[in-house]
Amino acid sequence: MVMAEEEVGGKENLYQFDEEFRDTIATVDAEGKRIWIYPKRPSGSYHKKRAIVSIVLLALLFAGPFITYNGKPFILLNFFERKFIVFGQVFWPQDFFLLALTLVTFFVFITLFTVAFGRIWCGWACPQTLFMEMVFRKIEYWIEGDANEQRKLDKAVWDFSKILKKTSKHLIFLVISISIAHLVMAYLISVEQVREIISQPPTEHMAGFLGLVAFTAVFYGVFARFREQACIAVCPYGRLQGVLLVKDSLVVAYDWLRGEPRGKLKKDQKTITGSQGDCIDCKLCVHVCPTGIDIRNGTQLECVNCTACIDACDDVMTKIGKPKGLIRYSSYNAIKDGILKVLTPRIVGYSIVLVALVSLLGYFIFTRADIETTVLKAPGTLYSKTDDGQIANVYNIEFINKTFEAVELEVRVESPAAASLMKIGEPSILVPQEGILKGLFMIKMPESEIKGMKMNVELGVYQEGKRIEKANARFIGPIKSFKK
Ligand code: SF4
Ligand code: SF4
Repeated sequence: MVMAEEEVGGKENLYQFDEEFRDTIATVDAEGKRIWIYPKRPSGSYHKKRAIVSIVLLALLFAGPFITYNGKPFILLNFFERKFIVFGQVFWPQDFFLLALTLVTFFVFITLFTVAFGRIWCGWACPQTLFMEMVFRKIEYWIEGDANEQRKLDKAVWDFSKILKKTSKHLIFLVISISIAHLVMAYLISVEQVREIISQPPTEHMAGFLGLVAFTAVFYGVFARFREQACIAVCPYGRLQGVLLVKDSLVVAYDWLRGEPRGKLKKDQKTITGSQGDCIDCKLCVHVCPTGIDIRNGTQLECVNCTACIDACDDVMTKIGKPKGLIRYSSYNAIKDGILKVLTPRIVGYSIVLVALVSLLGYFIFTRADIETTVLKAPGTLYSKTDDGQIANVYNIEFINKTFEAVELEVRVESPAAASLMKIGEPSILVPQEGILKGLFMIKMPESEIKGMKMNVELGVYQEGKRIEKANARFIGPIKSFKK
């Protein structure tokens, strides 16, 4: 046991804590075996609010792939074809810098959000927590009962009742896992393609079918068995908490100044008396915790800020006639000093960087060209002489259409005036929707007009008579033509 040495408002900090809890995690025993957590069924005002938020967020999550914009998905994250649609905007591998900028912005946002509000995301919005605590766990309580009944059932012999309960629970888990797998696939390859996969024999879409099976297995494994380990051992965001959280971050925290020294109520004692702190050491906050920790030890990596311990403790405080909030949303410094500071210099600094990044990202997205043209000299070619005695260069041209409609384009030479363009292949340039069109063309120029070994020819790309983009082509001529 150690004593915190800080002085708090002239009063000695009485917070005593056992540092040994940091040597182990609550879900693994001394032999390294998993300790199964049976959290008590949570209830209370925070739980009710979280249930409402969860219903809204899960509804949005399931509706997401069905929302369309201009007949296309509003969000599509097709990593396989490297095509992304975010808020109706198509992004291609060529927009890589936008993706990189988005990732940097996202990382700054996450940092800022975590520094200010701790792990609110984990408790209120993370799909892992939403599905685990608000869907799978609820089904488990419904079929197997509260924590003690679940413990008893697991120890019981395999009679008809146990087989029925376990089979029905796992069947429902499997059905929900299948639904989540379909949902994830719809975000990855679109609802239409998922519909095709499930309406035709698996042999027609083997890769898609195997994808659905793999996702189902992963989700079933995570929600039926792996559970809190996903947050504790796998989630990178969870692992980053140690470096992201600061003493001013808002977290689910135990007020040690009010709670300590803790002590149990004696038989028939209704409330706390004397110098005893408000914590009656009932351990209900530990029993409801889905990650099995004791929040009275301070902020820990395992805490997903699910608020179950707040509700449990508020209930206890009400029963013993003490004010709620012994465990509450607060920060280390707020408990220590009695003042909750939200706008710290660090938050202001991160906010300025975030606003700058968001503005830059917005500018690039809204000024992004719908059609992108790349002109490159055909590899291995220099120049040639045409029948009319002019010098000609051959080029590869590529058009990328980032819109949802096919577009007809025209390429014209802007300068020098003496240069002219000869198309090779199809006369019209029709670029398919969300597609790429590649072609070859030739620029020719009278030898007398060539002013250098490498000249720049400026091209204009026109759509319905309006120039939408400029492109440059390097023109190579014979040395003698400009040495005269
Ligand atoms: S629920 Fe409250 S009173 Fe009970 S042990 Fe936890 S902090 Fe103490
Ligand atoms: S300590 Fe409290 S908020 Fe954190 S995971 Fe456990 S019950 Fe949830």
